[in-house]
Amino acid sequence: MSLLHHTITRSRLAQLRAEEEASFRLTHPRSGEMATRAAASLHAGVPMSWMAHWASPHAVFLDSAEGAQVVDVDGNEYADLCLGDTGAMAGHAVPSVVTAVSERFARGATAMLPTEDAAWVGEELTRRFGPTAWQFTLSATDANRFAIRIAREITRRPKILVFNGCYHGTVDETFIALAEGGAGPRPGNVGPPVNPTATTRVVEFNAIEDLERELSEGDVACVLMEPALTNIGIVLPEPGFMEGLAAAAARHGTLLIIDETHTWSAGPGGCTARWGLRPDIVTIGKAIGGGIPAGAFGMSREVADRISACQDADLEDVGGVGGTLAGNALSLAAVRATLTGPLADSAWERTEQLATRFVEGVTRVIDRVQLPWHIVQLGCRAEYRFSPAPPRDGGESLRAADPELERFLHLHALNRGVLLTPFHNMALMCPSTTEAQVDRHTAVFEAALQTLAGDD
Ligand code: PMP
Repeated sequence: MSLLHHTITRSRLAQLRAEEEASFRLTHPRSGEMATRAAASLHAGVPMSWMAHWASPHAVFLDSAEGAQVVDVDGNEYADLCLGDTGAMAGHAVPSVVTAVSERFARGATAMLPTEDAAWVGEELTRRFGPTAWQFTLSATDANRFAIRIAREITRRPKILVFNGCYHGTVDETFIALAEGGAGPRPGNVGPPVNPTATTRVVEFNAIEDLERELSEGDVACVLMEPALTNIGIVLPEPGFMEGLAAAAARHGTLLIIDETHTWSAGPGGCTARWGLRPDIVTIGKAIGGGIPAGAFGMSREVADRISACQDADLEDVGGVGGTLAGNALSLAAVRATLTGPLADSAWERTEQLATRFVEGVTRVIDRVQLPWHIVQLGCRAEYRFSPAPPRDGGESLRAADPELERFLHLHALNRGVLLTPFHNMALMCPSTTEAQVDRHTAVFEAALQTLAGDD
């Protein structure tokens, strides 16, 4: 069988998708009832509108999740390779985290007072990522927003720089994109406060000369980046890019903010530790709370000293950096339990092996059917994409997207007990993911491609 010699026609895709939708409805009646009920009181029938983006015709309602296993309200079981789009990279309902969180909650969750856990977590994040002055938030978005503010304040520069195809949460400045006519608002940008070209410069990843040109304008406070793009497929830095970028930023007085929210998959200290990076600020969120909302940003001593020296920067009250529940006792207990338990240093050896197994399985299938697709691994995360070679930047990766094909593959997998992250062809491993779950995906993926090729 060679899919290269079959065209995956849109009409065949639509027909196969309709069949999968019919089969989904048959096996998800209770979810269907809940979806109908929720539609009367929730916008788009879901608690947050992106939850309507799954490939299924209506939302799957969760009953329980444990380790890497999800059970829905109809009793269907899934191998969870989505893991809450990284929020559950520690695994779901990990017993040690459940105990620590329950104990802390029973002794008070949010009193505007620090706990000893906060100091422990600060020390541990310093050991892993380097920066020595940490602050906590409830999300990675907030960590990024506050890091940007601090960078602007201490450099007295108005702009930031991001890479085309980036995603850093709902941070206004980052919703910019490169198109043929140059930079402009990212398509779909909802009610932008200003045109993001007023606040942001954008270049392609791995384009060191473009970066140099933009930084030489002298108005860029910080580069905000993932050390590998993970929100437009996985785009790895080419050899020398990170070094060149760090040198250019230093030369132009621009701070480097590294967002490790997803790239933490690369190891206990993310890409920062694995690749020996020395950012001015590190941001992180999602998985660090083991399921409880938590985010953090860590400043180098120099950045911390510079912001402390800004007499008129109101970091304590209404200066724009804060959050009443930020750094609350419950979040910090959860982070400590996550870092000592499921995401202790030793976790990555196994989870990375599992991701390698996933990559090998997908590669075998792709080779067997001679598809011009590729897969990229970053530690315990892997993502395949519909192009023959890994793209070198966001623009190239965007051109390899095929949302219709992706939705079919996701629904096909979901109907066979495998959850993949909406928006991605991504698989993430947690410490309790099993080889059997990874192999289940390989088998389901192969079956999907055979179906597409008409060999069923
Ligand atoms: N940074 C990165 C790299 C992300 O991928 C995301 C979300 N996908 C965020 C930050 C924002 O995370 P949150 O929505 O939890 O604030």
